[in-house]
Amino acid sequence: MTPLFAPPALPVVPLAGGAQGFPVRRIFCVGRNYAAHAAEMGNEVDREAPFYFTKSAFAICHSGSTIPYPPGTRDVHHEMELVVAIGAPAFRVEVAQAEGAVLGYATGLDMTRRDLQQQGKDKRRPWDLGKDFENAAVIAPITRAEEFDPSGKSIALTCNGVTRQEATLDDMIWSVPEIVADLSRYYHLDAGDLIYTGTPSGVGAVSPGDVLHGTIDALAPVELSIGAAR
Ligand code: MN
Repeated sequence: MTPLFAPPALPVVPLAGGAQGFPVRRIFCVGRNYAAHAAEMGNEVDREAPFYFTKSAFAICHSGSTIPYPPGTRDVHHEMELVVAIGAPAFRVEVAQAEGAVLGYATGLDMTRRDLQQQGKDKRRPWDLGKDFENAAVIAPITRAEEFDPSGKSIALTCNGVTRQEATLDDMIWSVPEIVADLSRYYHLDAGDLIYTGTPSGVGAVSPGDVLHGTIDALAPVELSIGAAR
């Protein structure tokens, strides 16, 4: 069978300090993983299990990019997050074994069309328009898991140099091994899968001209500039 057109290339995220890259397969995102963020959105935290939404691999945006202000929205928000890169098969793994599937970690931004997400919630419709759009999954170079331990690390985001989000990864309700183990009950996780692990409080709107700078101790920072709509 001859493809009608060249299959689109999947995005490849660089590994920090090297020539290698991580080809992206799927993007999973955890909702409400910090109590203070759930509260600022007027939501209760569900302590029974995490919940998820997804983004297409084509939502990937490399750190350092300038993106056009996204279409169809008047309320784009930043969500600063720890991103987990899966490097090995994981299906129905126990929490104690889950870290074995983690290849590395990166800083990332779960960019959100908050007005469209809210419409989805109000009308009991899916979140896709609010969450899965071009340039909505910003990611910095990946640091290998052997060189990074999430425990105790600070996570922060500034907009135009002013701090908007500030917390520690210990504030996550569901830890990385707990998330990987739980998600592996529903999917055959494998190399190329990314997991955005949720955002701390302080999410807010961005405007054309804004520069976002997100940090997690010991990881490469994530940077994004917002350009004019087009
Ligand atoms: Mn998020």
